[in-house]
Amino acid sequence: MKVAVIGAGFTGLSAAYHLSKQNHQVSVFEKERLAGGLAVGYKESDWNWSLEKHYHHWFTNDKAILDLAKEIGHEVIVKRPKTSVFVGNRIYQLDSPISVLKFPPLTIIERIRMSVVLGFLKINPFWEPLEKYKASEVLPKYMGKKPYEMIWEPLFVNKFGKFSKTVSLAWFWARIQKRTPSLAYPKGGFSNFADRLVGEIEKNGGKVYFNTEVTELFSRGKPALKFKNNKTPETSESFDAVIVTLHSFLFQKISPRLPQDYRKNLKKLRGLGAIDLVLKLNKPFFSDGTYWLNICDKNAPVMAVVEHTNFMNKINYGGQNLLYLGNYRAYDDTYFSMTKEELLSKFDPYLKKINTDYRKSLVGYELFKAPFAQPIIPVNYSKIIPSFKTPLKNIYLANIEQVYPWDRGTNYAVELGEKIAALVTK
Ligand SMILES: Cc1cc2nc3c(=O)[nH]c(=O)nc-3n(C[C@H](O)[C@H](O)[C@H](O)COP(=O)(O)OP(=O)(O)OC[C@H]3O[C@@H](n4cnc5c(N)ncnc54)[C@H](O)[C@@H]3O)c2cc1C
Repeated sequence: MKVAVIGAGFTGLSAAYHLSKQNHQVSVFEKERLAGGLAVGYKESDWNWSLEKHYHHWFTNDKAILDLAKEIGHEVIVKRPKTSVFVGNRIYQLDSPISVLKFPPLTIIERIRMSVVLGFLKINPFWEPLEKYKASEVLPKYMGKKPYEMIWEPLFVNKFGKFSKTVSLAWFWARIQKRTPSLAYPKGGFSNFADRLVGEIEKNGGKVYFNTEVTELFSRGKPALKFKNNKTPETSESFDAVIVTLHSFLFQKISPRLPQDYRKNLKKLRGLGAIDLVLKLNKPFFSDGTYWLNICDKNAPVMAVVEHTNFMNKINYGGQNLLYLGNYRAYDDTYFSMTKEELLSKFDPYLKKINTDYRKSLVGYELFKAPFAQPIIPVNYSKIIPSFKTPLKNIYLANIEQVYPWDRGTNYAVELGEKIAALVTK
């Protein structure tokens, strides 16, 4: 079969890898100059490894992607970094049942109640009965108002903004189920891993075209696409099947023939963009070795502070300490139009509450924005997920919005790629 894959993020790479392994004729079209999509990295001249534009790691139970790494012989590093919360202007480690039971800002009764709820979600394998409930209604009722308002509500508000009250309990269940104390990371970074996959696809006879944007999907008996790059003006080509891995907003943009009722359903899906400021420091930011700090403060300008070099060795990044300041925001939020200088000034007073002197060790910073980064999972999301098959014959959709009940991630992108490859060739 002759198959086109649009997008060289992990869904597209996985689909193309599986198709190419079965000797199908695969062409991947990617508008950027590198593979990796949302997990793509950048590399400074004195770094040995690339760093993701937005913080990334794997859980040790991310089976699909860890199996793939094994299959292609890519080394994976597993470590147990420290995850903490910022509550009442103090940092507390909170990443194990013991740390929950010892959490000083709550009374022993409150800690036990919260542990029982988290423990129940961890051992209960059934998410379907939970999907009709809103996390914001169920959690305070069962774990108690104080633990919910101190820890979880600020995290929901900081992550989902005006959608925070609509998020389903199934989404929260998935977060608790998946979380592992140890985390994994591909040697060299996610871009390095994506490049390895590109190499495997090419070894199997597939083609990956970078800097090549698909501008229109249409049909001339068979599905066809128009694409352009800096060498060729707009060209078109037909395929037996086309796999689209783009966010549904972008899928609609390149598919003028999609019927109105299908578009109407896609419009029910909501999402947020991601904005990360990456600071380079010549001293560690956290004095206690924390890797990930959740900011439990609804009024904070930043959602999470992630010191990547408290997870991966700074030797790989020219000896610099790398710190993400992460936020999710709606695409039309002011954060999206702000410069890196404006954003740092906005975050600065808050960061000084954590490390008064950090500015003295700041050597530079970069800003990265991704408009389609985090689907919002409301109650009964399973009823609105688009299917792989689209109304356009032999044009398939496999994207971030179809990952459910799990929260989106490269592991599920790899799983989606495998599933869509199997469906297309069936
Ligand atoms: C802030 C943040 C933190 C995250 N943390 C983690 C984490 O810790 N662990 C984890 O596993 N995952 C994490 N993720 C999620 C993970 O990055 C995504 O789930 C995954 O990368 C999605 O892959 P995808 O291939 O489905 O989509 P994408 O990565 O979005 O790939 C789509 C590709 O299509 C290309 N494209 C778009 N339009 C066109 C066009 N017209 N023509 C050609 N190409 C086009 C894009 O350039 C892109 O490369 C995180 C994401 C964000 C934003």
